[in-house]
Amino acid sequence: IGGDDIAALQATSALPLQASVLTRATDGRWTREPDSINDFIDKSLAGNAPRAIVDAAGSRGIAVVRPLEAIDGTQSVLLLRYPLSMALSLYRGMFRSLIGIGIAGLMLLITGTWLLARGITQPLTALEAAARNLREGVYEPVAIKTKDELARLAESFNTMINAIREREGKITQLAYHDAETRLPNRAALERRLAAAAQPKRLYLAAIGVDRFSHLRGAIGYAHAAALIRRLGVRLARLVPNAPVARLSSDVLGVAFLADDEADALRRADAIARNLEQPLSIDDHVIDVNVAVGVAQPRSKEEPTAAMIERASVALDQARAAHVKAGFFDEAAYGDPARNLSLMGEMRRALESGDMKLVHQPKYDFRAGAIRSAECLVRWKHPLRGNISPDLFVPMAEETGHIRALTEWVLQRTIEDQRRFSAAGHKLALSVNISGRLLGDADFARAAMDLVRGAAHTICFEVTETAVIDDPKRALENIDLFASNGVKIAIDDYGSGLSSLAYLKQMPAHELKIDKLFIQNLTNGNRDALLVRSTVDLAHGLGLEVTAEGVETPAAFAMLAAIGCDLAQGYLVSRPATVEELIALLSDEKRLRYYRQTAAAGAQAQPVVVDGGFRTHPKLA
Ligand code: C2E
Ligand code: CA
Ligand code: CA
Repeated sequence: IGGDDIAALQATSALPLQASVLTRATDGRWTREPDSINDFIDKSLAGNAPRAIVDAAGSRGIAVVRPLEAIDGTQSVLLLRYPLSMALSLYRGMFRSLIGIGIAGLMLLITGTWLLARGITQPLTALEAAARNLREGVYEPVAIKTKDELARLAESFNTMINAIREREGKITQLAYHDAETRLPNRAALERRLAAAAQPKRLYLAAIGVDRFSHLRGAIGYAHAAALIRRLGVRLARLVPNAPVARLSSDVLGVAFLADDEADALRRADAIARNLEQPLSIDDHVIDVNVAVGVAQPRSKEEPTAAMIERASVALDQARAAHVKAGFFDEAAYGDPARNLSLMGEMRRALESGDMKLVHQPKYDFRAGAIRSAECLVRWKHPLRGNISPDLFVPMAEETGHIRALTEWVLQRTIEDQRRFSAAGHKLALSVNISGRLLGDADFARAAMDLVRGAAHTICFEVTETAVIDDPKRALENIDLFASNGVKIAIDDYGSGLSSLAYLKQMPAHELKIDKLFIQNLTNGNRDALLVRSTVDLAHGLGLEVTAEGVETPAAFAMLAAIGCDLAQGYLVSRPATVEELIALLSDEKRLRYYRQTAAAGAQAQPVVVDGGFRTHPKLA
């Protein structure tokens, strides 16, 4: 077979066959073929052909071997080969498409999963984050733009957030605001003060409206609340940016800055005076009086509530001292726990002699002599030293010990009156009767039993406030006192809300003008006019007038000129023991000095300014 025959053979097949005729050489090998082909041919001829052949290049193929008849006795075969690479080339395109489809499918799967994850996981994460925020008090709504169940879930979540935010707002409003006036409350002030870094110059003022419960009784609860609200607003305007709060029904609080204690008191006083400008509520003009207590933080660690408490105590102290603004007085306040045991000690002091009675004389302008005195109690505690009656008298009132104290004072007064009498002085003596006792019928009877043994006139000093608290019972007892020959003096007139209605109903014979007015008498303000009109009014009602707290010759002289009946104060004498007072009563030199000073005032023509006295020409 020649080359042309082979080519013709190859051409007859539809498959691209490789045909070759091989002859076995003398060494037994097939011509020019590698070992693998030699093996294949031998095995094929032996009848157990392997499945494939591997050619010299290492590529696999399918092959068929057919023995050929040869004339020269040589052994020949026809080897038909079909390389696999060629056989598969037909399917390559299909493979590629399959791989392409596979890759595309995979991509699709990945994208789908990603989109699905985005659609479910992301909204869930957002919801989780929002829930976490909510727990920490951050109300951040969730933004989900899809239109599926998750979006609806997010929507109801957002509605819930809004509802919670609204409700929390309401709760905060309730917790930190006073419902009646909508002003911030004590808790709000505590919170604001605790949150702020407290500067050294921080002060807190507790501003109390005087006699608020009576005012509220007179104008009604709604108007009283409106009044407090207006004062709060006014206060906030007076001290811009400062925390203002309603500390209790009649007390407002404000924190402010000042240079030192004196500056703080000045500012507090100015605030008080500004707040006292008349207010109109529902076309009614209302006059309010306020007092201010001031306190300062003690340390950074101290809870702000303690400072608020001190300011409130300072307010009580300012009221007791009849001053407009006062600083917290630690010494006067003491320790509340110890104060209670103090009452037990007070009962013992009444027996032991630690409690004493002193007498402050009153100079009678018309008689030019001293004919009466006020009895004041003094307590020298063995450890605490002198304790002011302004501290223990109110405490005795609160703890139910005032009756024992007052009966002791009354007994002593009657004894001392006998001692003055024995020394040749007929003195009318006054005893202070606390408001708490005024309604006590048992006390009234016991007191009258004591008074019946008195050598001369006994006078009871009562305050109008005490009468206003329980007018019926107070007036009944006062009538009982008067019918037993006890004279009645109205004490501290002008320091509270004065009620002329009760003044007329009381069988009083004396009116004592509070020292607050007398001390300002010669300062050139309105007090001179007030004192003069009070004297005229009291005389009109048939009352004698005593001026309390007369400290200067100028005031003494002016009171003489005004027509005041009696002067009591340090100028005449400090509260004195029986012996000291007896010495003063026979001190002619001193009595002459009083008469001369009074005469100087009576002769001088007072200078009238704006209808009132400004100053006295001789004494200015
Ligand atoms: P009060 O009844 O207004 O007594 C007058 C107070 O003013 C006394 O204070 C007296 O020492 C003081 N005083 C007198 N003259 C002057 C003056 O020229 N200038 C100044 N700045 N003060 C003057 P005290 O003795 O400390 O008494 C304070 C308050 O304690 C009394 O005020 C009275 O309300 C109460 N008190 C005193 N003793 C008794 C008592 O035996 N029984 C009752 N229930 N209360 C008493
Ligand atoms: Ca008095
Ligand atoms: Ca008084």
